[in-house]
Amino acid sequence: MSKRVMNPAARVTAVALAATGLGATMVAGAGSAFAAEGKAAAPAAVTASAAVAAQADAQAQVAAQVKAAAAQAKAAQVKAAQIKAAAVKAKAATPAKKAAKKAAWVKPVSSYTLSASYNQGGAMWAHKHSGQDFAVPVGTPVKAAGFGTVVKAGPYGGGDGPAYGNAIVVKHANGTYSQYAHLSKIKVRIGQKVAAGQQIALSGNTGNSSGPHLHFEIRTTPNYGSAVNPAAFLRAHGVTI
Ligand SMILES: [Zn+2]
Repeated sequence: MSKRVMNPAARVTAVALAATGLGATMVAGAGSAFAAEGKAAAPAAVTASAAVAAQADAQAQVAAQVKAAAAQAKAAQVKAAQIKAAAVKAKAATPAKKAAKKAAWVKPVSSYTLSASYNQGGAMWAHKHSGQDFAVPVGTPVKAAGFGTVVKAGPYGGGDGPAYGNAIVVKHANGTYSQYAHLSKIKVRIGQKVAAGQQIALSGNTGNSSGPHLHFEIRTTPNYGSAVNPAAFLRAHGVTI
């Protein structure tokens, strides 16, 4: 058989076969390669469709996330709007509250007889009278004329001089101070916040006083010498004495 194979025709055939074989191999190789490619392509296609699906999933997820984010953003916007509205409301309420505090001025004593008035001359004062006197019995409750902070409280006019006796000075908004003098008992301490109408002392007859009364001043500083007409001040703030 080998001899026959070795005849030229067979040899040609063999060569042809070999060539074919080679070709087949080549083809097969190519086919294999193709198949391999196809095989590779198939999973690739699978992968591709999986990828497409995954992408679709991802897109859906992203869409969901975007939707959620949008909802969150909307919720945040709503919340922000609510916060803003609350802030606006709070802001609107605050000045009104402040305005109410600023506007709330009261008489320093409830029941009284007006005695010496502001700028009145007399033997009692080295200069003109720096305040308004309210004649009241010793022990009458003295009230803060407005909301503020106590800046002076003590004997010797709280530092203004012995003529005032026991005295208190309260600092209010806008550079306004009120002073209460000749007191028998001081019921507040320096630094204490007081409301308009809050009892801060009991009236008396201490210091340079002709009789039981409350000496009341409105000042532009905490100190003696800066007094303005207290009756006019109170009247300008809706309080007539
Ligand atoms: Zn006085």
